Amino acid sequence: MKTIEVKTGRPYNIYIEHGIIKSAGSYVRAVSKAVRAVIVSDSNVAPLYSEAVEASLKSEGFETSVFVFEAGEERKRLSTIEKMYDHFYEHNITRTDIIVALGGGVTGDMAGFAAASYLRGIDFVQIPTTLLSQVDSSVGGKTGVDLPGGKNLVGAFWQPVVVLIDPDTLSTLPRRYFNDGMGEVIKYGCIKSPGLFGRLETENAEDILDDIISESVSIKRDVVEHDERDTGERAILNFGHTFGHALEKLHGYSGISHGEAVALGALMLTRITEEKGITEPGTSERILSLLKKYDMPTETKFTLSQIVDATRGDKKSSGKGLSFIFLSEIGTCFINKIGTDKLVDFFCADNPMGQ
Ligand code: NAD
Ligand code: MG
Repeated sequence: MKTIEVKTGRPYNIYIEHGIIKSAGSYVRAVSKAVRAVIVSDSNVAPLYSEAVEASLKSEGFETSVFVFEAGEERKRLSTIEKMYDHFYEHNITRTDIIVALGGGVTGDMAGFAAASYLRGIDFVQIPTTLLSQVDSSVGGKTGVDLPGGKNLVGAFWQPVVVLIDPDTLSTLPRRYFNDGMGEVIKYGCIKSPGLFGRLETENAEDILDDIISESVSIKRDVVEHDERDTGERAILNFGHTFGHALEKLHGYSGISHGEAVALGALMLTRITEEKGITEPGTSERILSLLKKYDMPTETKFTLSQIVDATRGDKKSSGKGLSFIFLSEIGTCFINKIGTDKLVDFFCADNPMGQ
């Protein structure tokens, strides 16, 4: 068992252990005096894991109920949150009761947001079941939903009271979602950990999953502790994301997953910064080899100018510029703001890929 402490405004622990969902109840009891617990899960995850979690909660004396919504990002909407509130109301959930998010990032983001807002805030637990949610979304306290105009436009910072990571749940996860998580894992290696990056190169990710999860979570924890409200350093977690979001947009949000787009974005960006002498020579070649090794896309039909054009309107833009994260070398990064009017010049001038 690995324990990672997160010292945010409301501190909490992250436990990583095979089979931990079967004893979820005792971990929840250790942090909560609640009478009732609501498990929030989606239509794919609930049939697989909710029974085990519910039984364990019951054995610790919690009165349980399960709220299930149809799986998919399309359901990450206020309309689902409203149904969740109705469920909480019908089950007499009070301010001292607890919500248990059991599922991927969509479940965690929504259950967290409902917990942050119902009765002005009740406790919640994260039990992430995708690699992406285990290494990324369950840590850091960002919760929310999408609007028709864009992703994650409504939300709240609300930290869980405990996070239970069970790597065994990944055995049922479809491959494409595994890649989503790997894109973020590769990102962590690039920005903060030459050691993690090196192990991804020399070993097989699936053989060292526990280490990958705990190293990734520790990196995210460190960054979040320094910048809980995302006003500075937390931006480095967006390495590869500005180009990644542009690629997702150009693909019409199908055909390339978020993690794949982030990894490809990281590769394309690093090729450019390497050519400009910002990044140590050979870095993009190492990223390319890793993407090939983990079956990630390494090229796109879109040109660099199309991608740069599609970065306009990125959520991370502020004032008149866009913040990009550049690598100096594997494991070291920095934030660089580029004026919107300078983007084409910076990325496409003298660059054959920009044609
Ligand atoms: P998801 O929750 O939709 O899960 C992906 C798919 O896998 C779903 O179909 C789900 O039903 C299924 N699934 C989940 N666990 C499974 C398991 N163990 N076995 C079989 N199937 C399983 O999506 P995700 O990729 O986990 O998360 C993406 C979401 O996370 C996005 O909405 C994104 O905005 C959000 N996110 C949030 C943060 C944050 O800091 N809050 C960070 C990154 C991403
Ligand atoms: Mg991401």
